[in-house]
Amino acid sequence: MDPPRAGVHYPRSVGEFQAWFRTDADCLDYLEWLRWPSGLVCPGCGHNGGWRLGDGRFMCSGCGDRTSVTAGTIFDRTRTPLTVWFTACWLLATGKDGISALSLKRMLAIGSYQTAWAMLHRLRSVLVRPGRDRLAGRVEVDETYIGGEEPELPGGRAPGKKGLTGIAVEIREPKGLGRCRMAPLADASAASLHSFVTDHVEPGATVSTDGWMGYHGLAKLGYVHDRRSQRAARARGDDPAKLLPAVHRVASLAKRWLLGTHQGSVGAAHMGGYLNEFVFRFNRRNSRSRGMRFYRVLELAVAHDPVRYQGLIASRRPRAVPPVPPRARGRPPSLERAPANRPWRTPRVAGSG
Ligand SMILES: [Zn+2]
Repeated sequence: MDPPRAGVHYPRSVGEFQAWFRTDADCLDYLEWLRWPSGLVCPGCGHNGGWRLGDGRFMCSGCGDRTSVTAGTIFDRTRTPLTVWFTACWLLATGKDGISALSLKRMLAIGSYQTAWAMLHRLRSVLVRPGRDRLAGRVEVDETYIGGEEPELPGGRAPGKKGLTGIAVEIREPKGLGRCRMAPLADASAASLHSFVTDHVEPGATVSTDGWMGYHGLAKLGYVHDRRSQRAARARGDDPAKLLPAVHRVASLAKRWLLGTHQGSVGAAHMGGYLNEFVFRFNRRNSRSRGMRFYRVLELAVAHDPVRYQGLIASRRPRAVPPVPPRARGRPPSLERAPANRPWRTPRVAGSG
C-alpha cells in the first residue's frame, strides 16, 4: 500500500477518531481493512480469498477453515469491546506521555486494574517491529539502572528492584539526537553488552562508550570503538556524567516518564514493555501526526501473534504475589453510545430532583 494518508487511512484528530469509530463494528471493519487490504488471507493455508459467514467470521475458499479478523492477533478472543481497545490504543499512541493502567481503568470504566494493565502490556508488546533497522552512524552506548518498585529515595537505592538497561542513541550531525534503542540487560558482562550492541547497532558504526571493560572487543565485532575514560575525564576536571551526553539525556527522560506517568511502580520483570513504549514514542517525537502513531500501533497489533495473559505475567523473576487474572466482571462496557438526546433539556421526572 502507498503511504497511509491523514484523514483517509488514519484519523487526524480526536474529533475524527470519535467520528470514525463510533461502534465496535466500525473498529472491526478497520482492523479487517488493515489486516487484509486485498481480502482474506487464510492464517491456516495462506490462500487469498474466501467469504464472510453469517456470524461475522470468514471461510477460506482454499481449505475451508473458518477464521475471524481478530483470530491470531493480539485481539484474539478478547472480551474487551473493540471501542475500548481503540480508545486505549489512541491514548497510548497519541498522548505525549501515554497513559497508566490506573488512569485507563478509571477513564474507560474498566472493572479491574488487571484488565487495564494487561491491555496496555499487550499493546506495548507489539511496538517492536520484527526486523527493524539497527542504529547507524555515530552511536553512544551505555548501561544504567532504571525503574524499580518505588521512586528513588535520597541515599536509599534499592538496586535489587531496578532493572539494568542498555541504551543506544544515534548522534546527528551537526547536533541533535537520532533514534534510540533500549533493552533490559541480564548483567553488565561483556557477553550481555556485546549482544546488546550487535542486536541494536549496525556494524561499521562508530560506537562511543565509557571505559568499562565489558565494552572491550567491540572493534573485533566490526565497530569503530570510541572509548571515553571516566578516569581521564576526572583527571581533566570534566564531569564524568557528561562523557556520553546523549544516553545521559535519554536515560533521564525515560526515568522521568516512569516516575511521572507510572509513579515509578515498574518492576524489573515488565521493564521491557515500558522501554518499548518509551522508545516507540521517542523515535516518533518529531512525527507530524499523532494519528499516524495510532495507525502504526494497530498495524503492528493485527500482525502480531496473540499475547496470552499467562505469558504476560510469566515474568523472568517470580513475584511474591502473582496478579489475579481478570474475571468476567472485569469486562468493560463498550464505548458505543447512542445519541443522548440532550438530557439537560429533558424535563425531570417527579421525585428525581
Ligand atoms: Zn485456508
